[in-house]
Amino acid sequence: MKITAPPITDAHWRGFTPMADFDPIIAREGEGCWLTTTDGRRIFDGVSSLWCNVHGHRHPKIDAAVRDQLDRVAHVTTLGMSCETTEELAIRLAEITPGDLGHTFFSSDGSSAVEAALKMAFQYWQQCPSPQPQKTQFLALGSAYHGDTTGAVSLGGIKYFHQLFAPILFSPVRGPVPCTYRVPDKVDPLTHYAGQIETLLSHHHDQLAAVVIEPLVQGAAGMITHPAGLLAAVREMCDRYNVLMITDEVAVGFGRTGRLFASEHESVTPDIMCMGKGLTGGYLPMAATIARPHVFDAFLAPATDSKQFFHGHTFGGNPLAAAAALASIDLFNETNLVESVEAKGDYLRQRIGTLSGHSNVGDIRGRGLMVGIEIVADRETKASPDPSHQVGRKVCQAAMERGVWIRPLSDVIVAMPPLVATNEELDILADAIIESIDQTL
Ligand code: PLP
Repeated sequence: MKITAPPITDAHWRGFTPMADFDPIIAREGEGCWLTTTDGRRIFDGVSSLWCNVHGHRHPKIDAAVRDQLDRVAHVTTLGMSCETTEELAIRLAEITPGDLGHTFFSSDGSSAVEAALKMAFQYWQQCPSPQPQKTQFLALGSAYHGDTTGAVSLGGIKYFHQLFAPILFSPVRGPVPCTYRVPDKVDPLTHYAGQIETLLSHHHDQLAAVVIEPLVQGAAGMITHPAGLLAAVREMCDRYNVLMITDEVAVGFGRTGRLFASEHESVTPDIMCMGKGLTGGYLPMAATIARPHVFDAFLAPATDSKQFFHGHTFGGNPLAAAAALASIDLFNETNLVESVEAKGDYLRQRIGTLSGHSNVGDIRGRGLMVGIEIVADRETKASPDPSHQVGRKVCQAAMERGVWIRPLSDVIVAMPPLVATNEELDILADAIIESIDQTL
């Protein structure tokens, strides 16, 4: 099928996009970390196409796996039937995820993976061997982002994204924003934030089905980086207070932080874990919610007991996506890509570190190839810039003029390149960020 550059119209309604005043850039092709646009520009994909691309665009092995699957079958539902490729992927996920996580429920995007985790945790307490039907609430962190479906938005704590929808949402028990940049003076960040979470758990554990946490780095909140040890502390508290632990590895999973899963940094096995984005190498829509045996076993019963998980998606476990995911996992096994990520991330942060003397750069943070640069009005007070100045947007526009695609999260400039980016490509990314901040501020 030949596609000629179509006129840009509002036929395509884009998410999180002010449709009245934006200038879309239309990609035609991709290769490695680069996209070519319909007007012939070559652009570095500094956001991994919304944080999902891992091995680069048009990786020959993933392309071949999808084509090969296409020659067999494109889609078979997993409700009542399945496809051998999807079955193999479920087994592989049980092998590569932490501890005894072993039972995968498939969906199509990260939000749906979180949605499934919420319903799974809720239903678990209704029918586990010692049911506690009053456990219907969730604890989520401040500034949490877990997706845009209604349950996921309910967990969300980012005013700008979530507040508007308050009348149609449930209210979680709201934890702290465990931010190491804005921690109060003279307190140990881990003791401080873990203590706040413990207080909430001690008050609400009887009603809590689960704690939901994005491990290590809250990406969409602006690369908020947690104190080391927080994840392990939450695991220990969940055990002590008999509350399930759900980790959202949608953004941090599949190598982003320098381990295949971020939970591995603190040797944590959650009860339920959500994956998305990088699962297929960032190729096709697929997400997964994987549970440990004690969770899965609570749903194991004959049809007459009606204990099955009351949830399912038409395209969950799609074979083309499963083929891409298997090829991506093979690539992780065949290369030392994950092992290279921490060094690459340190290199990028060190290059961007030349900005640390800039009067409007408050913090440069992140983990692995998740990098955030927080722009402030005043470094002493850490005051945020006037929102009407749109500094984040302007910096990213300036970077685009230099052929580098990055996106702001409010005043935080985010860089999340594909994990295969070379140091030479990271130099291009770093130079564009430095020059664009210098030009704008
Ligand atoms: N959870 C986290 C931590 C995310 O960062 C995102 C998306 O950015 C989601 C869930 C939602 O994923 P999706 O956009 O695929 O629905």
